Amino acid sequence: MTSSPPPGRSVLGEPGLAAALALFQQGAALSRADVAALTGWARVTVTARLERLLDAGLLLAQEERVNGRGRPATIHRLNASAGALLVADVGASGMRVARCDLAGMVEDVAELDSEIADGPDAVLATVREGWRRLLPDGEPWGAALSLPGPIAYPSGLVVDPPIMTGWNGFDARSALSRWHPGAATMVENDVNAMAVGEVAAAAEGGRHLTDLLVVKVGTGVGAGIVSGGHVIRGAAGAAGDIGHTEADVAGLREDRPPCRCGKVACVEAYAGGWALVRDARARGLEAEDLGGFLTHLVAGHPVARQLTADAGRVLGSAIATAVSLVNPEQVLVGGSLGLAGDALVAGVRERVYARSLPLATRSLRIGPSVLGHDAGVRGLAHELSRQVLLGS
Ligand SMILES: [Zn+2]
Repeated sequence: MTSSPPPGRSVLGEPGLAAALALFQQGAALSRADVAALTGWARVTVTARLERLLDAGLLLAQEERVNGRGRPATIHRLNASAGALLVADVGASGMRVARCDLAGMVEDVAELDSEIADGPDAVLATVREGWRRLLPDGEPWGAALSLPGPIAYPSGLVVDPPIMTGWNGFDARSALSRWHPGAATMVENDVNAMAVGEVAAAAEGGRHLTDLLVVKVGTGVGAGIVSGGHVIRGAAGAAGDIGHTEADVAGLREDRPPCRCGKVACVEAYAGGWALVRDARARGLEAEDLGGFLTHLVAGHPVARQLTADAGRVLGSAIATAVSLVNPEQVLVGGSLGLAGDALVAGVRERVYARSLPLATRSLRIGPSVLGHDAGVRGLAHELSRQVLLGS
């Protein structure tokens, strides 16, 4: 463990250099004249700052003609491989860890087994070991973690999570800072991270996505809300926790099963992965865990398909209410259940279109997550890259 920032990053402590580097986020390619025009800095200041960033290996320079004509100018770009970012998208059962470049592009990703209910020590030990394998030498510029529960933002404290035994009040951000004292650190709710990833991916494709609902259906159920371009976190970090709202199961079933949170008849108690495993077993289907259930579902077993479509309908009723509240342009369904075939999304679509007002659904698109299983790590990488390059 080192107590100083990684080489290269320490340069950003010098006057004006962080502000200069921040100009080069999101692939910006700028000449000295461009930088002077953007900042109002004197020419000599621009030259000194760019030279320092070039010497430190944080920028790359190339002679280029603008529009292929005229005298070539020196164009500067971020050297995204000058440093590494480490991210971990931790779900209720399993996690994805990744190493990314400074621009937030994923370079290497690994899927690891873990159970959130094993508590912070066990889960963080898995994260740390995964990161060590992805970055055996050197220190990251940033480290970020997502967790499947309410997170106070920006402190990163875990707040009263309904299912995360031993996590209440845990300061995950301090743990990251202890491992990597020179790094920027961030802790985010898992579905919020997915939502950020989807917005960033849309922007890369030239689409400005400002109003979005992302629903993660894995072992549990949660939602991330982007409204007017901002992630809605709520007063205590609990916005979007639709999994533990009371389910509307009219016409589908009459039982009121207990939920993991201690209440009964929550959305998750019908539509979460653990509930589907329970119902599958009751119908004689062999499923040791959610993975076993998903195997039946992907193979097209009719009982698994029917249970999943009904889960989609229960979810759809809850999502219909959310659609009326926030009027998103897209509803994207992710998580291991949401991404296993089309049965869940079909059930969601059926209920949302039947129950929301036409004005809210006229141009609404409901579909599977565009980024799939990588949505969480992509979102974390994007946010962390911004934090490292912009200091925000
Ligand atoms: Zn519940």
